[in-house]
Amino acid sequence: MKRWLAFGCVVLLVAAALAWSEVRKAHAPVDTRAVLYFLADTERELGRLPFGLTRLSNEEEIAIGNELAGYDTRGFSGAQPQDAEVAAIVERVGQQIAVRAHRKLPYTFHYIPDLRLANAFALPGGHIFIGAGLIAMMDTEDQLAAVLGHEIAHVDRFHCAERFQVEARLRKLNLGVVGALANLPLTIFQAGYSKTQELEADRVGTELAVRASYSPLGAVGLFEKFAALDRGESPRAGSPQAEVLRVTLGTLTGYFRSHPAPNERIAQIQRLIAEHNWEQLTREKTLASRPAPPPKPAP
Ligand SMILES: [Zn+2]
Repeated sequence: MKRWLAFGCVVLLVAAALAWSEVRKAHAPVDTRAVLYFLADTERELGRLPFGLTRLSNEEEIAIGNELAGYDTRGFSGAQPQDAEVAAIVERVGQQIAVRAHRKLPYTFHYIPDLRLANAFALPGGHIFIGAGLIAMMDTEDQLAAVLGHEIAHVDRFHCAERFQVEARLRKLNLGVVGALANLPLTIFQAGYSKTQELEADRVGTELAVRASYSPLGAVGLFEKFAALDRGESPRAGSPQAEVLRVTLGTLTGYFRSHPAPNERIAQIQRLIAEHNWEQLTREKTLASRPAPPPKPAP
């Protein structure tokens, strides 16, 4: 009897949400808003349901991701001739890894040709962003594969979708206002996840990258660079990395704050290499093109 009552509640809620989305259409031009309103209402009425039961469908997650990505992808046209080449490499490496992911989602890779962005982040539904500042620190495609694999894993393991759902719920409760996607800042996806989720993204991402024929040493090499910077060691003066760091240092500090300590990440990848007998996978492919270095400062 109880079960039927709960089922009836859900049916009524769905019907009400659909009816409401019709009424609201003039104010809410995209379907994703209706999804958000529905989500918020369902949570209010059935607040005792475990969090996992409100899992978004792939279609809902894709619609939400597309809507969020739309706010931030306008106006990122590259300024340097290398930018098109780097964007093409990001797309190729990213898709090679994404086809190995467990969830079948339409992954889109956005290269942001801004050296000040030494970061990467993912949105629900499979939008992956990576900044020129991070790629400028890399030497190999395998290092790029490590970062893209990590971000794909955040989507594949529902971290991004859950972050979205938690934020939607929080905003509803704290602000007393129905959250609209336009009001959700993308920084909530750039801020990093729990340590458990970050380490899971490293593990799953490395496994996907290895299945796409990349070396797990890509992750190790990149994290070693981060570890050196974390210790305050600066790259050789005059090297491309040193040039880039002049403009990225502020954002890199943000990256360190939002991710576990590089040494812990390296230790985990090394355990993974031993577990899977990946010791022979040492060959890395040099990165064919890199973002242009920043202009020399005026003397
Ligand atoms: Zn992460």
